[in-house]
This record gives sequence, C-alpha cells and structure tokens, in this order.
Amino acid sequence: MSTTVGFIGLGNMGGPMAINLAKAGHRVLGFDMSKAAMDALVAEGGEAVSSVTEMAAEVDVIVTMLPAGKHVREVYMGEGGILETAKAGTLLIDSSTIDVDSARVVSAAAAEKSMPMVDAPVSGGVAGAAGGTLTFMVGGEESAFEAAKPYLDIMGKTIVHAGGAGNGQAAKICNNMILGITMIGVSEAFVLAERLGLDAQKLFDISSTASGQCWALTSYCPVPGPLPASPANRDYQPGFAAGMMLKDLKLAQEAANSSGAATPLGAESAALYSMFCNSGGDAQDFSAIVKFLRGSS
Ligand code: NAD
Repeated sequence: MSTTVGFIGLGNMGGPMAINLAKAGHRVLGFDMSKAAMDALVAEGGEAVSSVTEMAAEVDVIVTMLPAGKHVREVYMGEGGILETAKAGTLLIDSSTIDVDSARVVSAAAAEKSMPMVDAPVSGGVAGAAGGTLTFMVGGEESAFEAAKPYLDIMGKTIVHAGGAGNGQAAKICNNMILGITMIGVSEAFVLAERLGLDAQKLFDISSTASGQCWALTSYCPVPGPLPASPANRDYQPGFAAGMMLKDLKLAQEAANSSGAATPLGAESAALYSMFCNSGGDAQDFSAIVKFLRGSS
C-alpha cells in the first residue's frame, strides 16, 4: 500500500533512507535545512517541502533522522513542530541516535497527541542506509512497532523490538558501549603483543579461537593483516568514525549517570575516545584507537 511519508533530516543516513522509501512506491515529502539534501531526494523521485508545518498535515507517517536529542526535541516539540501540526494518528518514527531521556520525553508528548511513536535508531552506517540493510532497534508500544515495521522493512534488514519507549536507544548505546570497550581491549592486546615480540597474526590466530574471541577482534581487527576487509587495511578510513563512537559512548555515560548504573569501563572508554578525537582522530575509523594507544605507550 502506498502512503504519504514525511522525512525530516536528509543527511548522510536520512537521504538514502528516504530514497529507498520513494523507490518502494511511497510518496515521500522531504524536509532538511540543506537545499542540496532536498535536491538529492527530488532527483530520486521524492518531493521537497519548505517546512515541517507544510508537510505535517499531509502525511500519514513521519520519519526523522537528525543529529542529536536537542534537534529531535525541537522538530517534534518546538513551535510549528510535528506534535503541533500533524494529524492525530500520524505514525512517528525517530531513527536518530539520541539520549534515552529525550526519546522518552518526546514519545510521551506524542502519546498525549494520540500519535503513536517509536524510537528506532540504526546500525549499519551509510552503506546500510543506501543498501536498505540497516538494523533497527525499536522502542515503543507493540501496536506502534507493528505499524512501523513495513516502513522499517524497506529501509533495513533486521528489525528488533526492544521494548517500550526509549528502549531502542537503550539497546543501541548498550551495544556500542560493549563495542567501544572491546575495541580498546583488543587494541591494547595488540600493542602489548608488539612490545613483547609476539606477531600480530599469531595473536589473532590464537585469540580468535580462544577466550579472547569477540567481534572487535574477529570481524573488525584493528591491525592490518589478519582481516583484509577491516579498515586497518585501508589506513583506517571509516567504517564507523571515532567521532560517532565518542557520541554513542557519551550518550551511554549520560544514561548511566541518570539511571545510577556503574559503568567504569564505559567512562574510561569515553575518556580515551575523547582524547583520540581531540588529537585529530575524529574522522578516522574507531579501530584507529590502536594507533593512539601505541603512541601513548
Ligand atoms: P548528517 O549530519 O549527515 O544529517 C543530519 C541532517 O539533519 C542534516 O542534513 C541537517 O541539515 C539536518 N537537520 C538538522 N537539524 C534539522 C532541522 N531542525 N530540520 C530539518 N533538518 C535538520 O548526520 P547522519 O550521519 O545522517 O546521522 C543522523 C543520525 O544517525 C545521527 O543521530 C547519527 O548519530 C545516526 N547514525 C549515523 C550513522 C552514520 O554512519 N552516519 C550510523 C548510525 C547512526
């Protein structure tokens, strides 16, 4: 069934996601503060609108893909925003990666306006957005999840319902906190091995089948050689940029502070990625943290 979908935030991720919805036969009305981003959607079959207000009354579904919580609060709850201008019953899907608190505040405000909402952050990066192979981690009522799923199926391959409002964001930051911590752990092991005269390939061969095995080692090895496809073999071009990892680690720390969870390694990982980004590593792949650790040795 073809519906009219509003899409707000047509950047690196949102642009190709909106294009996939248009290619699947939906009428897509796009809005972004960048005209170039809207032009790219129009070139692929979408339509451009000049404001959230112009779009909101016309659409059945709105997807947002914005940088951070403050943008999401503004676009949904600000003057002339979605909650003020959309019809009751409009399905709302926020795929931005934002703090759990903002996700829950906006979802509760949407419920007051009788607009079902899910938080549905993604993993899979720009390639996953373009290929329609993203993983969506979804928080919200079961009925909102079921309503959103046909749209998420167009933009992604794996769609997981993680529980109530905010739980999509919670799943995303918990997963990425594991990833940040384990990438540092694996990198430290390779740096130590170098100092001890243990060949990187030997450490890989042993640990990838021993108790040190983890995704950061066996799918995304931070040193060149053992895995030809990992960013280490292309001078750490991302991939997943260190700046993005830092954003997610900071969100995890915010959530840990507001919920009272003890995450000492998460805090240390955020501090190390912060130092790495401040020293110019921001745009490199997050596995380049190994170079930072080697340099600090
Ligand atoms: P981006 O900066 O490329 O795109 C954001 C877009 O939002 C921009 O085009 C900007 O003009 C627009 N925008 C900002 N405020 C707006 C407003 N008030 N109204 C309309 N448009 C507005 O960022 P991105 O890489 O597409 O990332 C978007 C989200 O996805 C972020 O939360 C990010 O953490 C998350 N994410 C990104 C990746 C990735 O690999 N890029 C992977 C997973 C998740």
